[in-house]
Amino acid sequence: MSLRGVAEPTHLEPTTRYTGDVMQGVAVISQLNVSDLEPGRKHRFFFQGIQMGTGQHWYVPIVVAKGMQAGKRICLIAGIHGDELNGVDAVQRTMASLDPATMAGTVIAVYDLCRPARELIQRGWPSTAKGHREVDLNRVWPGDEAGEDAPTRHVALVWNRLFRGNFDLAIDYHTQSIGGEYALFVFADYRNPEIQRIAELFPVQLIKDDPGEPGSLETTLVQSGIPCMTVEIGGPRGFDAAKVAIAVEGSLNVLKHYGIIPGVCDRTSKEVGTFIGNAMATVRATTGGYLQTLVDVNAAVTPGQTIAIQRNVFGDVVAEYTAPVAGRVATIVRDAIAEPGTRIMQILHSVDPGASDHSGALRK
Ligand SMILES: [Zn+2]
Repeated sequence: MSLRGVAEPTHLEPTTRYTGDVMQGVAVISQLNVSDLEPGRKHRFFFQGIQMGTGQHWYVPIVVAKGMQAGKRICLIAGIHGDELNGVDAVQRTMASLDPATMAGTVIAVYDLCRPARELIQRGWPSTAKGHREVDLNRVWPGDEAGEDAPTRHVALVWNRLFRGNFDLAIDYHTQSIGGEYALFVFADYRNPEIQRIAELFPVQLIKDDPGEPGSLETTLVQSGIPCMTVEIGGPRGFDAAKVAIAVEGSLNVLKHYGIIPGVCDRTSKEVGTFIGNAMATVRATTGGYLQTLVDVNAAVTPGQTIAIQRNVFGDVVAEYTAPVAGRVATIVRDAIAEPGTRIMQILHSVDPGASDHSGALRK
């Protein structure tokens, strides 16, 4: 039975609702309640998302690893943006290492939330209702089931029927978009001590203490009382094995920290000397031209250090860019051509508490 487009009564304890469809051997559901799933095993589903213009649905693949014992419930999300693939590898590897028979708690993996963008390997959801404009799925949470375009409604279905009531904590995995690259990097709202604790369980290069971004999944979850942080794993399109391995290490540390899986934590931010800052300095191209960057992600830079050179088509230098602050390179442009205004680099640094910026840290 489809109630799409119709406001449904709110049930405190909705049961997992099977549509009766099976795709590629996997059951389709339109509502999840992890408490009514059999413990001690992994469950695969396709969650039925919004319809396309042809009337068929977009589906969200999910895996629920439900432990024999009750415990903390954690959701791992990879795929709000279509061109970001490292998170898929990190979550798949994390899930593959879990044995529900020895677990106390539940881990939910959510893949490919933004399927049409994924198929095209592009960042946003191409909405015909918006003149084929891409809708950024990480700016429209918690969505609206009666919203003005399909992606906004899709997000609301996921929020109301897949996420709500099913987990106590979440980790959202991203990368930089096409044309750029991040260091191995965490956005975490340090105003919440639990979020600070889980962020520092990740042996990453950089952490930004960050107040969040309106409409992002991370911030919307935090505002609804569910701790969440965003892990940025390098660049788009490919798999970066080294960075993925560290993201898996951090994810398993979080599961160990909450006693979901047995064992003691591996390396954390403390062991690897993670650089923690609370502000971003952004360097943008002042002119058009071909760009040569002179430092890489995670590099330490000092004020006045030349970080990029831009040349015109004849090879003459038309601009030189220097680091405005001392800090570490958090994100870098990878395209060797830059129009005026292009963000060349963001440098993570620290300012006095209370002065941390809200605008500079454009999360992906
Ligand atoms: Zn992203």
